[in-house]
Amino acid sequence: FGGIVKEPPMHIVHVTVEMAPIAKVGGLGDVVTSLSRAVQDLNHNVDVILPKYDCLNLSNVKDFQFNRSFSWGGTEVKVWHGKVEGLSVYFLEPHNGFFGRGCIYGCSNDGERFGFFCHSALEFLLQSGFHPDIIHCHDWSSAPVAWLYKDHYTHNVLSKARIVFTIHNLEFGAHLIGKAMTFSDMATTVSHTYSREVSGNPVIAPHLHKFYGILNGIDPDIWDPYNDKYIPVPYTSENVIEGKRAAKEALQQRLNLKKADLPLVGMITRLTHQKGIHLIKHAILRALECSGQVVLLGSAPDPRIQNDFVNLANQFHSSHADRARLVLSYDEPLSHLIYAGADFILVPSIFEPCGLTQLTAMRYGSIPVVRKTGGLYDTVFDVDHDKERAQAQGLEPNGFNFDGADSAGVDYALNRAIAAWYDGRDWLNLLCKRVMEQDWSWNKPALDYLEIYHAARK
Ligand code: ADP
Repeated sequence: FGGIVKEPPMHIVHVTVEMAPIAKVGGLGDVVTSLSRAVQDLNHNVDVILPKYDCLNLSNVKDFQFNRSFSWGGTEVKVWHGKVEGLSVYFLEPHNGFFGRGCIYGCSNDGERFGFFCHSALEFLLQSGFHPDIIHCHDWSSAPVAWLYKDHYTHNVLSKARIVFTIHNLEFGAHLIGKAMTFSDMATTVSHTYSREVSGNPVIAPHLHKFYGILNGIDPDIWDPYNDKYIPVPYTSENVIEGKRAAKEALQQRLNLKKADLPLVGMITRLTHQKGIHLIKHAILRALECSGQVVLLGSAPDPRIQNDFVNLANQFHSSHADRARLVLSYDEPLSHLIYAGADFILVPSIFEPCGLTQLTAMRYGSIPVVRKTGGLYDTVFDVDHDKERAQAQGLEPNGFNFDGADSAGVDYALNRAIAAWYDGRDWLNLLCKRVMEQDWSWNKPALDYLEIYHAARK
């Protein structure tokens, strides 16, 4: 993309079913919040429209109040407004109870629930007299916005809006995603490598002329080891060693692990096939064989996988009580302490559109150990093999990676990482400083999104 042209502020409306920290399941929730904040910081106007789930974490919503109600398709929809991380958010609460199910996903009629939400979001914009420049929708869950808009809203006051559609993960709802690709003005996905990996997919291939890969960033204010209430000693790259030592001790104490100076491998993940379950299991064994400690924070939407890990946890908690802890729940505060207290964060995904955990790891001075796929390939450069590839991006190598999808691959990367911990502490400490100083924020990607928004309006 060319240089950014000075233009009057745009009005961008995100229609989304996830938003961190109040309704987050995975990276989609983080991205909606942090991308919106970055674009707002560049002086554009951003609103977010979200279902008013009964399970929303309302303590993180400021100035929450009733806004209006309107009727659509025979259903009354109440609208609430509040501020989340400094962003204006409209919450839709339809009288049909679609979002009073105690969950975000997981109902048998999720397609119908979110389809209804998308249509009522557009109707809300129309009936409230909004004139957005861009309506930005995400994944299968708000994909219907693209065609509902083109079918019903191009001949009224909403007509100047353009539709931008972002694919965070093509694995889910590909048929809906394909339809949104057709009806959107511009489409993106969350890394260059993933955009190449999916370019041959029949739902993507016809639309390559309007399809771009833009790497996700992380929000440096939301993830900030110098200002993080969940870790004991604030730190920057200047005092990273001391800050991480204190965090490791706090983590060991909290999880009842032996308080010892051992290499600590952390994993923070949804437990699904995508994340490389067999590789995660193998890595736990390998790290223990190397006399290290392992902490896994993860939860599985599939109860069979959850059960499997509960059994595994019982085994490890008796065989290696002071060196292994598997915490099988969703726990945001604990995730912060793991990012800070671990030496290494392992991400052995089978595929990974972008991945945020490796970026957050680096922000906290933990060294990423990843499988070379999608956004992991684009952000982690192996200290032994990727110097040139890193330098082409203006970076120095920052971690360890591997190719295959078998235990030999994991061993190859993890062995080198742990060996460096035992035999090259000074070098590893410098690497911690270096990864903390790399910029994985939205500074650059937000400008790329603005270019996409401009291109959509042409
Ligand atoms: P995905 O969107 O596929 O789940 P990402 O790496 O893009 O993967 O985003 C995962 C996000 O969810 C990260 O912010 C990570 O810290 C968080 N996360 C994943 N599992 C947990 C958990 N069990 N507890 C707390 N946070 C979690």
